[in-house]
Amino acid sequence: MTKTAIELQNVEKSFKDNLVLKGVSGQIEEGKVLSIIGPSGSGKSTLLRTINQLEKPTSGGVFFEGKNLVEATSKELKHLGESIGMVFQSFNLFPNHTVLKNVTLGLVRVKKMDEAEAKKTANDYLTKVGMDNKADAYPASLSGGQKQRVAIARALAMKPKVLFFDEPTSALDPENVGEVLKVIQELAEEKLTMVIVTHEMAFAKKVADKVWFMQDGQLVEEDTPGVIFNHPKHEQTQHFIEQVL
Ligand code: ADP
Ligand code: MG
Repeated sequence: MTKTAIELQNVEKSFKDNLVLKGVSGQIEEGKVLSIIGPSGSGKSTLLRTINQLEKPTSGGVFFEGKNLVEATSKELKHLGESIGMVFQSFNLFPNHTVLKNVTLGLVRVKKMDEAEAKKTANDYLTKVGMDNKADAYPASLSGGQKQRVAIARALAMKPKVLFFDEPTSALDPENVGEVLKVIQELAEEKLTMVIVTHEMAFAKKVADKVWFMQDGQLVEEDTPGVIFNHPKHEQTQHFIEQVL
């Protein structure tokens, strides 16, 4: 039995008169990995941002724990903000803080932990991603792969129910990609609910339970990686897969 973590009902998003999401419906299942693929500009980042309320949907519903976020109070939205973690292509670490401080900041400010507990928690998660030996380093001294592992530790330390990744390896040198994918793979094995926008097709094929193919603001096709990558039903999906594989 699969349980729905997040349900989208006909989500539309416009920027001025540019309709970027044209009615996206679907379910993000608990304990599963959803990978979203599609051409640049198809609305993948906007979809993630709309789900976690960094953007307000123009219409439609985003249901989390049975609650429509579009109608949620600011208190409920704060709870949501803590329930969905986000890892960005560009890491978004604070350059003026050490690795450890990057992880403890949210624990102290948002989770109201005391400094000692936050440090312990941060160290646990830095150890998990193999970055505990860099706790006192500043982001500028790290490789892209190391920065991204810190960003993942920072997100995990907040104990999100769902973790979103928006092209987590796109800004990395090729030799740094593997170490980040390995961490994500381990999280998948631990059954963390994840949504991963990626251009790493081999990785999506391996790690995802479901794949959404998006084009032009629409969810064109949703299926298992086996179907999407080997014999997609829609012509647009076929065309995209042929180009990228
Ligand atoms: P993807 O992540 O699939 O590459 P995006 O979601 O980034 O696609 O972008 C989809 C479309 O939405 C693009 O045409 C982009 O220009 C537009 N868009 C995204 N964010 C904004 C914004 N904040 N303001 C105006 N247009 C935006
Ligand atoms: Mg994007």
